[in-house]
Amino acid sequence: MKKFLIFAMAILLLVAGCGKQEEKKQKKQVKPPVVEKEEPKEEKVEEPIQEETVNEPEAVPVVETKIEAIPGQHRNPNEIVVVIDPGHQLRGDSTKEPNGPGSLVMKARVTSGTTGVSTRVPEYVMNLDVSLKLKTELENRGYTVYMTRSVHEVNISNMERAQYAETVGADIAVRIHGNGSSNQSIQGAEAYVPSGANPYVSHLANASSALGRCVIDAYCAATGFRNRGVITSDTMTGMNWSTVPVMILEVGYMSNAEEDQKIQDPTMQNNMVQGIANGIDQYFGF
Ligand SMILES: [Zn+2]
Repeated sequence: MKKFLIFAMAILLLVAGCGKQEEKKQKKQVKPPVVEKEEPKEEKVEEPIQEETVNEPEAVPVVETKIEAIPGQHRNPNEIVVVIDPGHQLRGDSTKEPNGPGSLVMKARVTSGTTGVSTRVPEYVMNLDVSLKLKTELENRGYTVYMTRSVHEVNISNMERAQYAETVGADIAVRIHGNGSSNQSIQGAEAYVPSGANPYVSHLANASSALGRCVIDAYCAATGFRNRGVITSDTMTGMNWSTVPVMILEVGYMSNAEEDQKIQDPTMQNNMVQGIANGIDQYFGF
């Protein structure tokens, strides 16, 4: 009986933590970036300039089983470092950089993002406004927070934003974006994470997926925004270069007039950052 109990406890511990266990496991297996095999010299593949913002409402949400955190696995938030990446910047930079470590696919360093259809607020402004509020909220909860940028006039590529997390010893990276679509009726929030088949960061897929699930669910609960789920993407430079569990939160569709207005509402922004912080708490088991 005793043996059975110990066994049962062990199983519980393994599945606990909304991905935290997975993350710890992943940390031990940090592999050097996958470098693509030397192939006969080819012309570099040029992809059309793509924003990190993905405007594909048809993308299939990942079905996740709910993992519940259990008490006793908690670390102190003071030991946890969060990097927030406020997406885009004042001016895009169409100079190219590799889409992942060793990749021959070259993509624009950084784009300037979308614009609110009703408020005309640029995405890079909204991203930073929300990120600064999120930083304050997370610091109030005890986390250590670093931002990839705190002003608009910078030139930091998506690769550099991803690499920044390692330089500050981050545990996770959360990238804040606003979405846009030519279909102005589309509403809702989405989380983007790398998939298990990602050629560069497959070892971060499970932890990133758990992080994405925790954040999108808590975010939508706090805001009432439609939950469009966790979606995998392996073409985003800012995730492919990551060394820590990473996600993009698309806070809502700035191409939808109603949602654009809501995103600019100060009370709603408070709800937004509360929700994101709740999701991060949940991921770490607080
Ligand atoms: Zn964006």
